Amino acid sequence: MLTLKFLGAAETVTGSKFYLSDEKTNILIDCGLFQGLKELRIRNRNPFPIPPASIDYCILTHAHIDHSGYLPCLIKEGFRGKVFTTPSTSDLLKIMLPDSAHLQEEEAKYANKKGFSKHKPALPLYTVNEAYESLKYIEPINYNKEISLSSNCSFKFYDAGHLLGSAFIEIKFKKGFGSQKLLFTGDLGRYNMPILKNPTTIVDADYLILESTYGNRIHSHISIYETLEYVINESIKRGGCLLIPSFAIGRTQEILYVIRELQEKKRILENIEVHIDSPMAIEATEIFLRHPEDHDLETQAMEKGGKSPLKCDNFHINRSVEESKSLNLLTKNAVIISADGMCTGGRILHHLYNRISNPKTTILFVGFQAIGTRGRSILDGAPKVKIFGESLMVNAKIISIDSFSCHADYFESVQWLKNFKNPPKKIFLVHGEPDACQSLSEKIKENLNWNAHIPKLEEELRLD
Ligand SMILES: [Zn+2]
Repeated sequence: MLTLKFLGAAETVTGSKFYLSDEKTNILIDCGLFQGLKELRIRNRNPFPIPPASIDYCILTHAHIDHSGYLPCLIKEGFRGKVFTTPSTSDLLKIMLPDSAHLQEEEAKYANKKGFSKHKPALPLYTVNEAYESLKYIEPINYNKEISLSSNCSFKFYDAGHLLGSAFIEIKFKKGFGSQKLLFTGDLGRYNMPILKNPTTIVDADYLILESTYGNRIHSHISIYETLEYVINESIKRGGCLLIPSFAIGRTQEILYVIRELQEKKRILENIEVHIDSPMAIEATEIFLRHPEDHDLETQAMEKGGKSPLKCDNFHINRSVEESKSLNLLTKNAVIISADGMCTGGRILHHLYNRISNPKTTILFVGFQAIGTRGRSILDGAPKVKIFGESLMVNAKIISIDSFSCHADYFESVQWLKNFKNPPKKIFLVHGEPDACQSLSEKIKENLNWNAHIPKLEEELRLD
């Protein structure tokens, strides 16, 4: 009997975990943390529904924490199998899992100081040491290489075009179930984005487990180049600096790529200073540059010609706290890219503290701002914002663009599905809020006349 159980990312975006078992081989696809609202995060503390020691393999689609961040818990609770990832994902996890642990340690410390935890003392989900321990189980596997898991079962990674190293996972069962093929998309990327390849064309699968984060949206199709050109030139005209709160991994590298292109085409001031001020973004940029095999042809051609695709003119890396503080002296013609992207912590806070009340400053949001974050309230037009305990006037020009999203919208998802030669026997829509799942299901019905199922949390299905 082949069964599939949805242990996360069912009618919600985070906590991606799917348990697949043919009684002989037990596989966990993705091992993500629940994130966001407290009622979701609390699920990370529940006992794992399947004894982790009974799971043979864990296969990860990509490094984002909502797909990978539960791994140290799984190992703490007894999992001892191999964890398969692509080589780039393996490298990214070396910085992301310890960072995730560090944030949890900080949170626990804060809860203990303020005394608001139910548990005394409040403990992190896992420690930095436990995160490092979990890295030992990872075995990197290249794209398009078939790996046998048992006499009956094998898997392959295909580039998903969503983040460096992101993959679709195809799992094949040869005998006993009429040779079934399953495809887990993880997160589905977009076409024609900087640096990354397009999502791989897939032509068949019996069961498709498809993400639906933006199943109810169409992204703005104004080009990233035009938007960033406009914003940078406007910021120069305002006579101040441009501050970009950015996600350290993925988004920062795309912005660097676009700024370099704009400089080369003389669409922006060539000698504008570009600063990255986030230790994690700096490390992630180095990892991006170490994996040219995962870059699109344009970027590879540049690299073969000896040029760095992420190095703009007048580019500065600020590693130390002193370097970061020295940026306060910049008054104009500078772009400062700092994390975190939602302004909840990190070095971006001291830049906001110094610049948000200055009407010459431009602040550009390039990613989703979750409810309850400082980024969201600035974006929603709050006249004042609290930083380091001080209430500051928001006088800066605030701009937000969504052209950088790394998830396919419903139109792009349907385009990708049109490559299938035959409809899958079943499509499961995961990784989306109920509205987004419902909307994508309707779009698939309208465009392809296929029926999709929206699984509930812990729903278990027989696939044979
Ligand atoms: Zn993702």
